[in-house]
Amino acid sequence: MTLSRVGPDGPLRSAGVTTRPAARPARADDPFASELDANATYAETFSLAGLEPVAARGLAVVTCMDSRIEPLEMLGLQPGDAKILRNAGARVTDDVLRALVLAVYLLGVDRVLVVPHLRCRMSATDEATMHQEIFDASGVDTRSLELRPAPDVVASLRADIQRIRSSPYLPGALAVGGAIYDVDTGRLQRVV
Ligand SMILES: [Zn+2]
Repeated sequence: MTLSRVGPDGPLRSAGVTTRPAARPARADDPFASELDANATYAETFSLAGLEPVAARGLAVVTCMDSRIEPLEMLGLQPGDAKILRNAGARVTDDVLRALVLAVYLLGVDRVLVVPHLRCRMSATDEATMHQEIFDASGVDTRSLELRPAPDVVASLRADIQRIRSSPYLPGALAVGGAIYDVDTGRLQRVV
């Protein structure tokens, strides 16, 4: 695969020395062996058979893919209670709206809580800088992708809430809320 170093807006700054994080230990022949072994154990005592696909508590949660977040535990939820939508930065993208439409009309959702968090990688910088950081690290020009960082997490949360509320595909009666999660204390602060 050839990686372009020239984007639609001209060349990015030189990548300089590229460093990549060291790979995690994995079996030489199968990088997923550990997880698949764990699944075999999980399935031996599997207890969720028969759960309905509708969200038992009528809730959808939009949150970040951050590995420090436990979406069910942080909200006192059990498997089956809620639809969990995760992406980088908990942003309300077109695909999140697509999933919410399906969740609302087909899967029992009537409440949506959007939960970005403090110390998110997506709030550390702006769009142009983030593209540059990726280019500097990899040589790959990502500027044709919209990364949607959120340097102002409160402003972005309010805008994302408004995006849900103003969607012509979602009902006006849909309850929409927003809260910011603190990955260091486990606390949520309600914003909207
Ligand atoms: Zn995050």
